[in-house]
Amino acid sequence: MRAAVRIHAPHHGDGSLAVLRRQMLEIARELHSRGWVANHDGNVTVRLPGDRLLATPTALSKRVLLDADLIVLDGADRVVQGGRRPFSELKLHRAIFAARPDIQAVVHCHSPCATGLSVAGVAVEPRMLGEACVSLGAEVPLLPYGFSNGPEQVAALAKAALDFDAVTLENHGVLAWGVDLEQAFLRAELVEHLASIQLAAIQAGRVRTVPAPDLERYLQARTRAGLGPEARRKLAK
Ligand SMILES: [Zn+2]
Repeated sequence: MRAAVRIHAPHHGDGSLAVLRRQMLEIARELHSRGWVANHDGNVTVRLPGDRLLATPTALSKRVLLDADLIVLDGADRVVQGGRRPFSELKLHRAIFAARPDIQAVVHCHSPCATGLSVAGVAVEPRMLGEACVSLGAEVPLLPYGFSNGPEQVAALAKAALDFDAVTLENHGVLAWGVDLEQAFLRAELVEHLASIQLAAIQAGRVRTVPAPDLERYLQARTRAGLGPEARRKLAK
């Protein structure tokens, strides 16, 4: 059996660069071993001080990624550390970081169930399970197809990032973000898990959601847990 990976969660400020690098490698390998990426797919970023990002590079499998392969980008997305090149989906990550000052990490993958639903034009439905609504809110939006991370898709993502913590992209995959790498990874994991449940429910004939009054209670629990736009508005006051 594979050893369990605990991606210890430093909240911003207390994660040294060495710790963040180790966590990023753990997550990258996890994305590969779970079959959520193939070939050179998927990418992970963490915000560093001074608008810099620690990132996985392009053109390398997550299976073989080593510490020396990770890159640090400056505010203009120039590589200032490491010998590899940045990935083309960087604009999507930057849109999320710009929209959400609280967010420190972004995970992108092509996990098959969530991506399959995106191909079918179906959004992942957190309202199937009350607990999922506490973690992700009532919606994981499906953003319209956009060619190669073009301006429309970047704009749609920047808008969605204000209210949500994960999205799927039509005919593409999953983006999830969090206050640290662990939370971003867990959100991507939950989106894929929900998608697999949803597919089973579709096969069984019907996707039912929790009753509306209970949904409201789960969403209140989400706000009490300090999650979601309403909690952030309260915190900002
Ligand atoms: Zn992708």
